[in-house]
Amino acid sequence: MQPIVKYTNVTKKYGDLEVLSGVNLEIKPGEKVAMIGPSGSGKTTLGRMLMTLEEPTSGTIELDGELLWHTRVKGRLVRANEAHLHRMRMNVGMVFQHFNLFPHMTVLRNVTEAPRKVLGLSKEEAEERAVSMLRKVGLDEKLIVYPAQLSGGQKQRVAIARALVMRPKVMVFDEVTSALDPELVGEVLEVIREIADEGEMAMLLITHEMDFARDVADRVIFGADGTIVEEGPPEAIFDDPQSERLQMFLKRFR
Ligand code: ADP
Repeated sequence: MQPIVKYTNVTKKYGDLEVLSGVNLEIKPGEKVAMIGPSGSGKTTLGRMLMTLEEPTSGTIELDGELLWHTRVKGRLVRANEAHLHRMRMNVGMVFQHFNLFPHMTVLRNVTEAPRKVLGLSKEEAEERAVSMLRKVGLDEKLIVYPAQLSGGQKQRVAIARALVMRPKVMVFDEVTSALDPELVGEVLEVIREIADEGEMAMLLITHEMDFARDVADRVIFGADGTIVEEGPPEAIFDDPQSERLQMFLKRFR
């Protein structure tokens, strides 16, 4: 089966700082991959590159068999133009640690904005889709309130609906519960779990919630120092870690 996402030898530098050093990673259609690892190990950067928010310094990324950041011209790899990036970006949804909702727009408008502007849906079509997504995340009674009137958990569920409404092939969840009060974490993870159970979409879940990763992921990746140190099914990673690096890392969560 062709992978939906394929990173090949991806390196990323910020100035002199090399945060990713030749990462290879494939995600199959519908596969849920959890990415764990210490802060600063490049997890967010990896997700942001898929969302076309960061450009790899070298290496290639493919999305559904097409090059994301590059195209081939007469066999040679060249940087893709903005139109290509725009088209590719529509296949990926991303939810961030800090929600990033539009504060001056109602919940409904936050969710209909991209389907209208990017997909060109009519107001009615966009609202129909948005309401069904907001129902899925349990917020269809908050359509006309503003983000400031919502709890952190509710804001994050709106952000999830906003990403899902575009029907992406891949969703990236980047530490989506890290900024939440502990009592609000559960409701957000539950929503993600339900979406994961539906099965169709591939997911890259960057998380510090080890129990959640164990439950939801088909495969867990442990990244450190710019590379993937260990990967495998959740049971292998959490119950039988091989590398000392991973063993040390997991001790902090026991
Ligand atoms: P993680 O998600 O694993 O915590 P990140 O991908 O956020 O790691 O960051 C990896 C490293 O890259 C960190 O040292 C961070 O400070 C650095 N970094 C991230 N974004 C930038 C940027 N835009 N400019 C410079 N350094 C950055």
